[in-house]
Amino acid sequence: MIPVVMPTYGRADIAFERGEGPYLFTAEGRRYLDFGSGVAVTALGHAHPHLVAALKDQAEKLWHCSNLYRVPGQEKLAARLVEHSFADTVFFCNSGAEAMEACLKMVRKYHDHAGNPQKYRVIVAKNAFHGRTFATIAAGGQEKHLKGFDPHMPGFDHVPYGNLNELRNAITEETAAILVETVQGEGGLRVADPEYLRGLRRVADEYGLLLVFDEVQTGMGRTGKLFAHEWVGVTPDIMGTAKGLGGGFPVGACLATERAASGMTPGTHGSTFGGNPLAMAAANAVLDVMLEDGFFERVQAIGAHLQAELEKLVAAHRDVFVELRGRGLMLGLRCVDGLTNGDLVARLMANGLLTVPAGDNVVRLLPPLIIEESHVAEALEIITRTLNETAT
Ligand SMILES: *Cc1c(COP(=O)(O)O)cnc(C)c1O
Repeated sequence: MIPVVMPTYGRADIAFERGEGPYLFTAEGRRYLDFGSGVAVTALGHAHPHLVAALKDQAEKLWHCSNLYRVPGQEKLAARLVEHSFADTVFFCNSGAEAMEACLKMVRKYHDHAGNPQKYRVIVAKNAFHGRTFATIAAGGQEKHLKGFDPHMPGFDHVPYGNLNELRNAITEETAAILVETVQGEGGLRVADPEYLRGLRRVADEYGLLLVFDEVQTGMGRTGKLFAHEWVGVTPDIMGTAKGLGGGFPVGACLATERAASGMTPGTHGSTFGGNPLAMAAANAVLDVMLEDGFFERVQAIGAHLQAELEKLVAAHRDVFVELRGRGLMLGLRCVDGLTNGDLVARLMANGLLTVPAGDNVVRLLPPLIIEESHVAEALEIITRTLNETAT
């Protein structure tokens, strides 16, 4: 008999009752160190007092009122995102896939609005992940997500991540945009070379294409800057972000320059729930914390510390790990062929550490941005103990 919860996920047989900072607790009271953060979502840990207070306060006033009216929380959040990014304007939605849908719709609208409706194709990277809607599975182009869902949405051309020559060769009269993740998350923590991102900007400008970054996972401080592309100093025309934005409350955003959004006039796009007062209260509270002096410096420092510790671990366990990948607090341990990442994730969980599998046999570490050295030490102790168990 089919489970009442549709069985679309491979779930671990465990449930959590509450969380506190970087820890999750089961109903039986067993404590887990959460280095998965619900896949890069709970950026400030669980039950952060400022977020709890902001959401409680909003919950007593107004949950929802619709985009038929002005929503002051949207105006505040958009102004702050604009002030701290390349963007001039922001569309709010409820998830990463919706953020990327808005990006992709805007690409077509931009060229149509400019009198070039024949330009609709988007060049994307192989091994990409942009979400699970029809458009975003076609954009991601991965067989495991597309299988059984024919016909696929047309308009995407895939080239290897990091290869500018193949990208140039894929450009035609119909090309509208280039879409990449600044660090491939689900694909296995591949960090874009700075020269690659600079090259993408040059190519986009040369051919009149829009450059779209998917910062759904890399955004909101995950790599130690508000957005990961800041490390390189290259800005996109359009960008999606979501995961960490609400600190655990579902919210996504599509950020764009005035030029890229020139076709997005009233009636062109919308969402019933997008940017509702609860979501805006949560996201504004997240920004209150992240925009405090020294927040990103702290993330960079603890990220560097975790990386250094993991590099030592990899060097000491060449029989288990091939390499450490990633940036900031978005890190991945690539396992040797003889060890399946999912098996290691399960064994780490049995010992009280939560991690997340990614493509390319990688175990992802995505701790909340508020961790301290004691949490790094605790994680390393659990990983080392788990590896030693395996050896015996
Ligand atoms: C998670 C993710 C998405 C999809 O986000 P959902 O909220 O699951 O729809 C899109 N792009 C990237 C890079 C992601 O990591």
